[in-house]
Amino acid sequence: MSDNNICVNTNKGKVWLVGAGPGEVSLITLKGREVLADADVVVYDALVRGGMMSLLPEDAELIYVGKRAGNHTMKQEEINALLLEKALEGKKVVRLKGGDPFLFGRGGEELELLVQNGIDFEIVPGVTSAFAAPAYAGIPVTHRDFCRGVSVITGHRRSNGFLDVNFKALAETGNTLVFLMGMSTIDIIMNGLLDAGMAGDTPAAIVEKGTTSSQRVLTADLAHLKETAETGHAEAPAVIVIGAVAGLADRLEWRGSLPLNGVRAVVTRPRELSSGLASMLRKRGAEVIEVPVIAIESIKENDILKNAIGKLKKGCYKWVVLTSPSGVRVFFDELMKTADARTLAGCRVAAIGKGTGAELAKRGIHADMLPSRYDGRTLGEELSRLLEPGDHVLIPRASIGNKALNEELSKAKDITIDDIATYDTVYSAETWFDAAKELADPHTFALFTSASGVRGFVSAYPDMDHSAVKAVCIGAMTAAEAEKHGMRVWISEEAALTSLADRLMQAAEELAGSEG
Ligand code: SAH
Repeated sequence: MSDNNICVNTNKGKVWLVGAGPGEVSLITLKGREVLADADVVVYDALVRGGMMSLLPEDAELIYVGKRAGNHTMKQEEINALLLEKALEGKKVVRLKGGDPFLFGRGGEELELLVQNGIDFEIVPGVTSAFAAPAYAGIPVTHRDFCRGVSVITGHRRSNGFLDVNFKALAETGNTLVFLMGMSTIDIIMNGLLDAGMAGDTPAAIVEKGTTSSQRVLTADLAHLKETAETGHAEAPAVIVIGAVAGLADRLEWRGSLPLNGVRAVVTRPRELSSGLASMLRKRGAEVIEVPVIAIESIKENDILKNAIGKLKKGCYKWVVLTSPSGVRVFFDELMKTADARTLAGCRVAAIGKGTGAELAKRGIHADMLPSRYDGRTLGEELSRLLEPGDHVLIPRASIGNKALNEELSKAKDITIDDIATYDTVYSAETWFDAAKELADPHTFALFTSASGVRGFVSAYPDMDHSAVKAVCIGAMTAAEAEKHGMRVWISEEAALTSLADRLMQAAEELAGSEG
């Protein structure tokens, strides 16, 4: 290390070279997820897909260095220099790369400059597409009945235009061959192996966009590989698997049995609420992109709420009514500053629906009442029947709260309602999300759980054709808002997330039926 680096290095940061996995978000490693959550700067490229964005910390600086239509791609030297620059600023830098960072990921090159400058770094290996894409297609890359090993080979030409692969040596190994970056050289690969003596009827498969909802598997024998790719319009990113194991794809196929296989769901809920829905959809086989178009901002220094909590402590309220999971969160955050859940011991608690009830249950409170239908009017109607003259009701909720609740409650005689705004719902746009392009895809649906979510989406992406949005909605109000913007709407039978997921499945089936 040179002397003039010493003063800079006293405060230097660190770089983590992290494998993001092959596409499906859940295939990132636990360690990858942990270091991402802690990053100040994330440098990522095209193989890191939309769903991964929800794992990036909100306040981190996100730098895209990949190819995107029309944009200049950052050169490798520029990326190397960028990592160094950010580390020298004392930042925790995550360089996120598709698959495994060292498998055709140029990870080694990115570290050179850091080593020269004495920057600390760690490598977080990732699940590589070379093995995961075949696995998701039911192809075990080795199987002791068929081969003794697997070779992973690049199909990328050298700068002189030449594909520098020793096909003869490869053919002699008897290994399963997995080619990455091979779609533009598929004819050279096919002919090279045939010329090297590999049998024309050797099973082969192309796995396109492996592990994502758009995954396609094209099987062929070696002699017809190019023809199959052409007639099937196979596109990158794809891996090409050649060897007897590729013949197992049909028998070991497993993804098709997941109910939401092939469906992509755009979850628009606020960040802190989206993970439950996202994980449920992923378990059912969907690819999920979390695009929080609304955010919850609690009202700071809320004297009216503080005052109400004071009254609550004195036992003034007969009922506390909570109308959303965010409402519960914000209310308890304030309550816990000066008291705890026991403050509610003397009063009864109503929740508008299951989700709100579950949020209360996390805080040790079972709701005393849930309406028979999960909407403000029904809640007001049914609760008003339980009220007695003289009762005080506290409703801590969104500043844009639904008025039907109050209208119905006020029908009860001689009661006092403290309807207190505790949070604002603000619209937020995720600039990385290309809504027009993504939603034009026939397998991509937007999921809305509130009318404000629909409004947030429209305000985040005002310039697109909203009639192209396939919207699966919870609740009549949400659906009405989506229809107002011309979206194609499916409404869940019940106001529950599981019912929303069921409806998404039906919507996808309907569209698949009409396609076929
Ligand atoms: N480091 C990456 C590979 C980068 S090279 C890894 O370990 O996966 C880029 C090539 O990876 C693509 O051309 C393609 O062959 C392959 N690839 C990446 N993601 C893929 C996916 N989801 N499905 C199929 N192939 C993929």
